[in-house]
Amino acid sequence: MKFTLTKLRLNLIAGLIALGILAISAHTLRNDYLDTWQEAENSSRNVLTVIARDLGSDLDLLDLSLKGVVEGLRYIEFKKLPPDLQHRVLFDRVATASLMGSLVVVNETGELIADAGPVIAPRSFNLSDNESFAVHKANSHIGLYVSRPFKDPLRNGELSIGLSRRLSYSDGRFAGVVMGFLPLQTINQLFEDLRLGKRGTINLFRGDGILLTRLPFDVTQINQDFGASPQVQRLLQGSHGTLDSISPIDRVHRVISFQRLDDQSLVLTVALSVDEFLATWRVKALVLSLMTGILCFAVVGLTVLFQRELKRRTKAETKLRRLARTDDLTGLLNRRGFREIFEREWRQAIRSGSSLALLYIDADFFKSFNDRYGHGKGDDVLRTIAHMLNANIQRPRDIAARHGGEEFAVVLPETDIAGARLVAENIRQAIMALGIAHEGSPYHIVTVSIGVASARPPRGSVAAILFEAADTALYKAKAEGRNNVCTSEAATPV
Ligand code: GH3
Ligand code: MG
Ligand code: MG
Repeated sequence: MKFTLTKLRLNLIAGLIALGILAISAHTLRNDYLDTWQEAENSSRNVLTVIARDLGSDLDLLDLSLKGVVEGLRYIEFKKLPPDLQHRVLFDRVATASLMGSLVVVNETGELIADAGPVIAPRSFNLSDNESFAVHKANSHIGLYVSRPFKDPLRNGELSIGLSRRLSYSDGRFAGVVMGFLPLQTINQLFEDLRLGKRGTINLFRGDGILLTRLPFDVTQINQDFGASPQVQRLLQGSHGTLDSISPIDRVHRVISFQRLDDQSLVLTVALSVDEFLATWRVKALVLSLMTGILCFAVVGLTVLFQRELKRRTKAETKLRRLARTDDLTGLLNRRGFREIFEREWRQAIRSGSSLALLYIDADFFKSFNDRYGHGKGDDVLRTIAHMLNANIQRPRDIAARHGGEEFAVVLPETDIAGARLVAENIRQAIMALGIAHEGSPYHIVTVSIGVASARPPRGSVAAILFEAADTALYKAKAEGRNNVCTSEAATPV
């Protein structure tokens, strides 16, 4: 019982320790995970903010140039100016936007009217087959229009996008287009030297989901329409934000920060690969999980070992205790064991108001038996007597003990003097019936004398009174000639 309780408590403590270790490492890992994720979101946002500002202001400058041309052409006297002044009026506001390619002005049939920029457009240049031309021709209120990437004829077919504005006659009719060419390469230069990892990306989408350019640059993805992709739709809808999703372009899971460049209706995204930024955390998680596992295993293992040891010791102690109360020679309870049991029965008898009987059994003329037959034979006889005692007590709580040398005691709970006397008589006769030769005795066989006492102990009485009574009875039995059962009436306070 005691052991089970200890075992339970031990299991509980071990379980709590293991749980504690698990909880701490789970908590640490979770916090680390959230921190890492947060860091990735922050750094993607920071990068985004910087390049969105750069790109936005460059595109603003470019648009300013377009507006300058549109306004210059509106100038009534424009046509009357000498060519060099015309050029000045048109391109006066062509700022030195770092992204700037060439800038062309075409009439309503797409033919070149004027151009500026690093590349001189040939006379044969015609813009009418460009998407922007058609869009402006069909709509008068588009404002700034960003084209899909196309191969720039002025730059050996280098992929570029066009930013364009419509030219209108005073009555509103389509008069042509002014368009700035922007090589994708120059946009991509803005993205260089940013540390986004091997699988980090930057995407520049047109508002309708056309991919304008991308880092890492992949010509097969450029100009594709991702407008139908739910992931891209999420980016196109808000003005800015951060989310994570699996890229429809390369199936990589990324944390994506996005921002709309309102004036140009473009969406810029900066994305970091989840696998990449979680790599360090994953190694840490693995190591910590392993260590946690080992620790928990160790706690459980130690507990099991400890319990086994405890069990072994408890068993050993129980055995020792039993041995300490057992008589070597006969295997009966020894004097100490007898005393313990007797005290317990005495208290029980007081509680229940029942009677308790005690027999003192003493071998007759035993000194002379030893002298004649030897100590070894004497021991045999003592074992036989012990056996006969056990054979003559029947109730579960009846106990026989070796009280001293050749003296024994029998405790008979809930037995009155008459019953006890009967048991004593049975014992005496059983031993006599064995007929063990004892020439030193006047009976010529081994006999015993028995003192019997019984008490219904009142509250507050001590067990000693029954010892004394049994002792007196035994003394009487000896005095009356031995091989005899006597009761001690006087000392029995019934
Ligand atoms: P009585 O009839 O008056 O009891 O005579 P007795 O000789 O039995 O009494 P006494 O108490 O004088 O002697 C007890 C003897 O019991 C002494 C010893 O030789 C013997 N004895 C005591 N313990 C042992 C034992 O463990 N083994 C053996 N073989 N003999 C024992
Ligand atoms: Mg004796
Ligand atoms: Mg004796």
